[in-house]
Amino acid sequence: MQQGTTAHGATAGTGVIGVVGAGTMGTGIAQCLAEAGHRVVVVDPAEEALATARARVRDGIRMARLFRGAPSAVSMDEALDAITWTQDLRDLAGARFVLECATERIPLKEKIFRELDEVCPPGAVFATVTSAIPVERLAAQTERPGQVLGMHFMNPAPLKEAVEVARCPETSDATLNTALELLAGIGKHGIVVADGPGFVSNRVLMLTVNEAATVVQQGTADPATVDRIFQECFGHAMGPLATADLIGLDTIVDTLYVLLECTGDDRFQPCALLRQRVEDGHLGRKTGEGFHPYPAHAGIRSPRPR
Ligand code: NAD
Repeated sequence: MQQGTTAHGATAGTGVIGVVGAGTMGTGIAQCLAEAGHRVVVVDPAEEALATARARVRDGIRMARLFRGAPSAVSMDEALDAITWTQDLRDLAGARFVLECATERIPLKEKIFRELDEVCPPGAVFATVTSAIPVERLAAQTERPGQVLGMHFMNPAPLKEAVEVARCPETSDATLNTALELLAGIGKHGIVVADGPGFVSNRVLMLTVNEAATVVQQGTADPATVDRIFQECFGHAMGPLATADLIGLDTIVDTLYVLLECTGDDRFQPCALLRQRVEDGHLGRKTGEGFHPYPAHAGIRSPRPR
């Protein structure tokens, strides 16, 4: 466990908010919570993720303050010190709310939810930030399905105002209200949808990204031209391939496989070019190259095997 933490077993304090996964979304969400004055415990078994996490949050705070311009409730040091980093999920024994932001793999997340259910207090609410996995599959791993919902933050989390909130039939009103209040407290609002593979956002976006990559693969246009069509013709802020680079091409491929498995719809089969980029370690912004080059990058990741 790293600086700012009590010893394991003493719990990291009653009422803390847990974040599982210290990748792109986990660090972004931890930043949002810490800047709003919450104490946060972030769990990630990967040493390489934890090694760079505090620096990535510091960069994220600088960036958010630059873009937002508004004064923050806490200083940079107070925000950074409010986050505890650990490899041990049992350090969430005192958490009242947990946001699960681990890698987009169904068996991995199912295991995490089983473990969270054992470790966390009976009243704790669990939210998954999954891009596509039906929340009820994860809720079914617990003895508290009424206290589980989806909170699909967008990336970069500190700069996005809205969160797609997925409610299962079992999700209680109290759980939904707790989640919406948490969002309000960090300056965001939820848009509530029903549970389902990919919810609204990724059911649509992942097909678009896959088709945009296919267009490049077939030689119809290069990545820059594909994105220009969306920006200059449709007025989108970003094209689909720049969006894919921001999300992470590994996460895109994982999400497409989840959608393929959960819907049985072959349109979600990731195209060869997407799979090749991931195999080559070109994951987008986080590695410095995806469909576009990013010379100044955080460099936190090597490609992971499927
Ligand atoms: P990422 O690859 O950047 O980070 C995932 C992290 O999970 C890694 O640091 C990994 O070490 C960690 N992890 C793996 N196994 C774990 C375990 N057992 N316990 C705790 N941590 C574990 O991925 P990301 O982009 O942050 O995505 C995380 C989740 O958020 C995924 O479900 C993804 O679909 C979703 N999401 C991503 C985006 C995006 O734009 N990247 C947007 C919305 C939602």
